[in-house]
Amino acid sequence: MQLKDRNYQIQGVDVLAIAEEFGLPAYVYDADKIIEKIGLLRSSFTGVNLKIKYAAKALTNVSILKLMRQQGVEMDSVSVNEARMGMLAGFEPGQIMFTPSGVAFDEIREAVDLGLQLNVDSLPLLEWVGQTYGGAVPISIRINPHIAEGGNIKISTGHADSKFGISILQRPEIRAVVEKYHMSVAGLHIHTGSDFKNANAFLRGAEVLFELASDYPDLKFIDFGSGFKVAYKAGDHITDIVDLGRKVSETFQAFCQQYGRELELWFEPGKFLVSECGHLLVRTNIVKENPTRTFVAIDSGLNHLIRPMMYDAYHDIKNVSNPLGNEKTYTVVGYICETDTFATDRPLPDVRPGDVLSFENAGAYGFSMSSNYNARLRPAEVLVYDGNPYLIRQRETFEDLMRGQVDVPILNSEIIEQQV
Ligand SMILES: *Cc1c(COP(=O)(O)O)cnc(C)c1O
Repeated sequence: MQLKDRNYQIQGVDVLAIAEEFGLPAYVYDADKIIEKIGLLRSSFTGVNLKIKYAAKALTNVSILKLMRQQGVEMDSVSVNEARMGMLAGFEPGQIMFTPSGVAFDEIREAVDLGLQLNVDSLPLLEWVGQTYGGAVPISIRINPHIAEGGNIKISTGHADSKFGISILQRPEIRAVVEKYHMSVAGLHIHTGSDFKNANAFLRGAEVLFELASDYPDLKFIDFGSGFKVAYKAGDHITDIVDLGRKVSETFQAFCQQYGRELELWFEPGKFLVSECGHLLVRTNIVKENPTRTFVAIDSGLNHLIRPMMYDAYHDIKNVSNPLGNEKTYTVVGYICETDTFATDRPLPDVRPGDVLSFENAGAYGFSMSSNYNARLRPAEVLVYDGNPYLIRQRETFEDLMRGQVDVPILNSEIIEQQV
């Protein structure tokens, strides 16, 4: 979103015009930003066979999945339903990695029946897959390398106490199961959580997988997961993708030489590809001056964007209606009847009732984590593509809230006489 003269624009389209056309609140995504990130990632790696598997849970709209596919990006899914959406978007099942965490065997069976690339996350699942399919289903194994790094503990997945992956300390047990059932191991995987700051964490994870690779001669790929840190405000420390690409490419080439074959190098970025493209546009309902604070209450809440309340995430806020107004300090709150704070004591250009605000970097884990709490409706989603805005999800209606609720006739009688 760029300030052109006095107006914010996305690909030359006036953001206020988008608000007018599609109503508020609305998530608006800039396709060019996604394409730019894909290009940056690709150009950072050289001399390796790079595959990008978009982690669809970050933003799961089928139009976004189609955009990824158009750009030659494949997909990582954490549920069979996500994978089905990917197939609706045109992906071949074999292009979709399935990385579940502790799901029922029934769902694993569905994934195998669909033809997804299965990523095994526990020894009991490995045993079950061996028993059920023997060597017929090539698998990937998710390893927990025990690397404690990354951001908020709630998004850190690679440390020793994390529920994710099979511990590298269980290397002999993994190998025993694979040999017992003559299983075919096509890939090794780590995903050490979100918000790594530098290449070192990836390189340490890589060392662990390179070492383990000597147990498995038929590998096709090594998957380094994701966890790239993105900037949420000016001056934020971010993952240097160019530096990461250079270092990982070098070590990967050396590894392939030693392994004796060129393998595919996979990454599964979610946030990196779609965070920056997204803007949550909302309208200001009330500006309330209390003795100690000025509150801005908006027509949205943690039901639409839970990251500030869940992870203490910082989202930059723009006053789209009054970008050149005098700065004042506001606490921006949602309409949910819970503590529902987006920003505390934030300097913003003068906010007036009716002003359109935009939460920046709202593409990843925004809409996909939204809910109907307080019987509120989820917002519309709009994609700006090639200079035009397209509605890619309708705003919900009251009927959407009631869908699936079952009328039980016995509960419809008149008030029952109370015994005193
Ligand atoms: C969530 C997830 C990702 C994406 O993580 P980001 O921090 O959004 O890039 C990648 N791989 C797996 C297995 C995941 O669960």
